[in-house]
Amino acid sequence: MELTERVKSRDRVVVVGGGITGLAAAHRLVSRASTASRPIEVVLLEAKDWIGGAIWTERADGFTIEGGADSFITNKPWALDLCRDLGLGDQIIATDDRNRRSFVVRGGKLLPVPEGFVLMAPGRMMPLLTSPILSARGKLRMLMDLVIPRKADDSDESLAAFVRRRLGREALDRLVQPLVGGIYTADPNELSLKATLPQFPAMEREHGSLILAAIRQGRQARAAERAASGARYGLFASLADGMDTLTRALAASLPPRTLRLGASVRRIVRPDPGQPWRVELLDGPPIEAGGVILTTEAHASARLIDGFDPELALQLRSIPYASSAIVTVAYRKDQVAHPLDGFGVVVPAIEGRSILAVSFLSVKFPRRAPAGTALMRVFVGGATQPELFELGDDELKALVRGELASLLGASGEPLLIGVARHSRAMPQYTLGHLDRVAAIRQRSARHSRLALAGNAFHGVGIPDCVRSGQEAADSMLLALADPAAPAAA
Ligand SMILES: Cc1cc2nc3c(=O)[nH]c(=O)nc-3n(C[C@H](O)[C@H](O)[C@H](O)COP(=O)(O)OP(=O)(O)OC[C@H]3O[C@@H](n4cnc5c(N)ncnc54)[C@H](O)[C@@H]3O)c2cc1C
Repeated sequence: MELTERVKSRDRVVVVGGGITGLAAAHRLVSRASTASRPIEVVLLEAKDWIGGAIWTERADGFTIEGGADSFITNKPWALDLCRDLGLGDQIIATDDRNRRSFVVRGGKLLPVPEGFVLMAPGRMMPLLTSPILSARGKLRMLMDLVIPRKADDSDESLAAFVRRRLGREALDRLVQPLVGGIYTADPNELSLKATLPQFPAMEREHGSLILAAIRQGRQARAAERAASGARYGLFASLADGMDTLTRALAASLPPRTLRLGASVRRIVRPDPGQPWRVELLDGPPIEAGGVILTTEAHASARLIDGFDPELALQLRSIPYASSAIVTVAYRKDQVAHPLDGFGVVVPAIEGRSILAVSFLSVKFPRRAPAGTALMRVFVGGATQPELFELGDDELKALVRGELASLLGASGEPLLIGVARHSRAMPQYTLGHLDRVAAIRQRSARHSRLALAGNAFHGVGIPDCVRSGQEAADSMLLALADPAAPAAA
């Protein structure tokens, strides 16, 4: 007999959203439910005709093109562990260490980010003191971090305020803003330090100085690396055949008919408390379910639940999102004057240019492009230049070609050029984010067997999304086993 016929609707869990969070949640539900006594049917609904959300890979003429994420961080274990669980351990690839450095633009030129400088922690003194990126005055101001007292209270502050206070304005404008802006496509004046990079206030608290903390932690990390055994990947890893290897493997691990593509959810209704949820689709009959996990963008989830909890919808809408475009461009290497001897370049806002960053994908990871060619990803838009996201594809391509000509000396027709758009895809953890998330959790706990997961809450990176999906699945299984328990948000 078909599982669908055997299970009652209360034993069905609908996961909305087929990005990495939804896939990780569905995979966890299926694998844990198979060992539970009661059968559970999982239905994963994705509005688009393909899975992966912000992760998608295309292959053309020997190029592996990442439309969204191109790698994941390895110091948070959840993505690495999931890859291994899925049997993808031998496909995990490390960054190519031969060119392990990045550049920052100053006065239109590419200068190396000082060795040991990670986001906003100067881990080594000499490279920083000899770098032409900062003026002598800027360096002196940065060194004052060694004597500036710790912040007296534990309140949150913006990332920009923190860096100005500890390292000075020049370090913010010339290094931290472009390095962090490239990751979050965000304005550091708005970002909550505690929500985005909580390790840095912890460094200040524990060591009284970012410089001392970074130097000590660097020593510990090198010692741990020397003592470690087994596979090591450096800070970032990817998958040999592209990032969608992970999302495709997750989809393939689900039982037949679990995943429904082109299934756009219109709204979620609960006729009476204690009754099953009714998941209404734009097209097709509604689905009844004992539990619902929403992994859609916070603004999309808000639309789905507006009918039964407008207050929660309002709270979800208060998480702002930014849009960005990735323009992927390939040239023959002889068309590019710069040697591309690094992983990429970040562009400070004060340089007044139209791009946020360029990632040299074919330098960063092996087998991304045919020999003799260079594959690059150029980031445009984000929270600081939203108007550029509105440009048409041809205008974006022209803009990017102009910037690459000026910054890297790229000339002639590219071998390929394409635009991938991410509309309102990147949540911005602005000041007050942690309070907003706590309020959302409190409010959503009123709705038994409704869980909220995804990149809007506790981390935008792939490992955080994997964890978020898995935790939502675990709490849903607990809630299904004990109908009195709510599935935590
Ligand atoms: C441009 C860009 C580059 C990035 N690069 C990296 C990187 O290199 N490394 C890294 O770790 N992280 C990176 N990130 C972050 C990371 O990729 C994302 O945070 C993560 O993939 C989000 O996964 P998710 O499943 O939570 O959400 P999403 O991937 O946004 O998935 C949500 C899904 O819900 C679907 N949906 C929406 N509404 C409905 C509806 N009504 N019915 C059904 N389905 C619906 C959407 O179609 C979408 O597929 C990047 C993000 C962006 C935008």
